[in-house]
Amino acid sequence: MNSVTDPHSSTHAAPPPAAASAQPLILIVEDERKLAELLADYMHAAGYATHIVGDGRDVDAALAAHAPALMLLDLMLPGKDGIAVCRDVRATCDVPIVMVTARVEEIDRLLGLELGADDYICKPFSPREVVARVRAILRRTRAVQEPVREARLVIDDERHRVTLDGHEVALTPVEFRLLRLLASHPGRVYSRARLLEDLYADHRVVTDRTVDSHVKNLRKKLEAVSPAEALVHSVYGLGYKIEL
Ligand code: CA
Repeated sequence: MNSVTDPHSSTHAAPPPAAASAQPLILIVEDERKLAELLADYMHAAGYATHIVGDGRDVDAALAAHAPALMLLDLMLPGKDGIAVCRDVRATCDVPIVMVTARVEEIDRLLGLELGADDYICKPFSPREVVARVRAILRRTRAVQEPVREARLVIDDERHRVTLDGHEVALTPVEFRLLRLLASHPGRVYSRARLLEDLYADHRVVTDRTVDSHVKNLRKKLEAVSPAEALVHSVYGLGYKIEL
């Protein structure tokens, strides 16, 4: 998967869902690497992206960089403990927090501290249970914050049909494949060479400009439906990406 340069910090995307939509990211704050990775695997399987930090002092930077939908926060951490982290985060941000503790008796004490965590889980836990709790909290908080949060872009492979914000977008087969590839990883930059490879499996002789003109047409069609914001962006010198 992704290369990891910092042993205490790594980000993974979940496998692309059928309909392209941004995956909520779960920030896992846990210094036991194996446990953190096990949780991450379960979160990926449930359709979430994850980022792991192993030191309480790295939480602020991770929150700013990844804007997680929820944070799983271990109580005993190097650098800064879970209680201090929870307090500081709560002072500035309302990201849902699930605190993880190694002792069930600790939960009463934590509740008494009124840290503002959304839920508490005791180790050892089953990862399945953690996923269920995360889902429940996200359902709850999203119901409050976003009454109707549907995927903006829906790509129906079988019927070769694309809708954006509920409106159908008529695309040529090449434009369809282009959009499908870009939307498989929103935010990821695809080079022209990579796009060419994917668009023309028969290795017909085509130039970079061919990609540019297909992108231009695709953009025009998407913007006709959703003029307010551009979805397909060119990244100077690199290629193209889609932002949903
Ligand atoms: Ca710990």
